[in-house]
Amino acid sequence: MDGKRLRDEIVAGIRAEIRQLGDPSITLATVLVGADKPSQIYVRNKHRKAEESGMVSRHVELAADSSQDEVEEAVRDLVNDSAVHGILVQLPLPEGLDAERVLDLIPPEKDVDGLTERSMGRLVRGRPGLVPCTPLGVMRLLDRYGVSTSGKRAVVIGRSTLVGLPQVLLLGRKGVDATPTLAHSRTTDLAAQCREADILVAAAGMAGLVTADFVKPGAAVFDVGISRTEGGIVGDVDFDGVESIAGAITPMPGGTGPMTIGCLMENTLTAAKLLGAI
Ligand code: NAP
Repeated sequence: MDGKRLRDEIVAGIRAEIRQLGDPSITLATVLVGADKPSQIYVRNKHRKAEESGMVSRHVELAADSSQDEVEEAVRDLVNDSAVHGILVQLPLPEGLDAERVLDLIPPEKDVDGLTERSMGRLVRGRPGLVPCTPLGVMRLLDRYGVSTSGKRAVVIGRSTLVGLPQVLLLGRKGVDATPTLAHSRTTDLAAQCREADILVAAAGMAGLVTADFVKPGAAVFDVGISRTEGGIVGDVDFDGVESIAGAITPMPGGTGPMTIGCLMENTLTAAKLLGAI
């Protein structure tokens, strides 16, 4: 399952939709506190894709020693600016800053990362809202590659609010209708649990955790974990060992990572719709 290709399709689709609407200025704003290099690269990539999608991007960069009040004020300005449709605060924030208090300021309609308490509540309650980009990307890949979900068993490894937990909620939604299991570091006999899965999502952040003996023949395997090793970026899945057993598999890199950015673009367009701007 080619995440780069589907991301490009999503970006092209958004660009076409915006053009058809007469090129309204749909704006994604990012907030970065401090000069962490990987975070700067992530943010730059998000802006590049926003521009390719035909959207406007705005960037607010604050010094690493900014106070909680200064960060909150910057976010509040974006919340109150009707020209801004999506707000993304790049996490983690420098030590000493309370990310929860900052995220709490973002209204669900502008929460393009889908990470706030209110967005998560909407997801649980099945109300319209924005959901976290990485698990949404997995859902888009399932759909694009025709992987059937109804009545299928799914195992998600990892229970973070960023990936694993919303992934389980999305897979179990009415209309998707998979039967998900949420596995974590205390799960006993993880391999046996995973071997039951028609859909396996690995989001543990442990290089090569998922080996051939974890995979049911024909299963769809999604590699979300990212580990930086001397040999480069590797995922949670031993791709070479699993590829011949799985029915479908995402590469790492080139799978779930690009889809995360594609879904951020999709969420920004959805935000503009939720705000009634288009
Ligand atoms: P996290 O908050 O550290 O959560 C990791 C989860 O994996 C925890 O629930 C943990 O269990 C579980 N886990 C760790 N080791 C395990 C093991 N050996 N067996 C079973 N479960 C295990 O991380 P996260 O934010 O969810 O991110 C997970 C990974 O995805 C990271 O590598 C991150 O870099 C990557 N990521 C990728 C993308 C993308 O676009 N591809 C996006 C976001 C994150 P406990 O709860 O019991 O500790």
